[in-house]
Amino acid sequence: MAEAAVMDDYVQMDEVDWVDFPEGLCAGSIQWKLLHVSPEQGAWTAVFRCAKGSSFARHIHMGPGEYYLTKGKMHVRGGSAEGGATAQAPGYGYEACNAQHDETNFDEDSEFYMTFLGPLNFTDENGETIALVGWQQVYEAWNA
Ligand code: ZN
Repeated sequence: MAEAAVMDDYVQMDEVDWVDFPEGLCAGSIQWKLLHVSPEQGAWTAVFRCAKGSSFARHIHMGPGEYYLTKGKMHVRGGSAEGGATAQAPGYGYEACNAQHDETNFDEDSEFYMTFLGPLNFTDENGETIALVGWQQVYEAWNA
């Protein structure tokens, strides 16, 4: 990924190293590769590698997102046992604008690709924002 500009882009994914996903936004070992940011539509695309027992912290999707689970299993919105979705690879999912994910859990080693339209609003239990994570923030985090 070269720069945050409106241009063509290509990433040879196996030549990019996995990096730890920012602390505080997840529990357990989650690593990621930022593939692209799209300032003109506020979108960003990444792949995530989530170890068994890991989870993402509580967040709300300010815009919709699409994912492709390429490996493992992901419990979204509590998983299918609690009215959410349990994705099993190979699985595709669409999360609507304002989707609230109190916890996204991985009970086996998993990987997925996702495009986010708009930021993720990570919140505490009272709904107060801890971190607003949009294309600019992930771009800065990735290049830090
Ligand atoms: Zn989510």
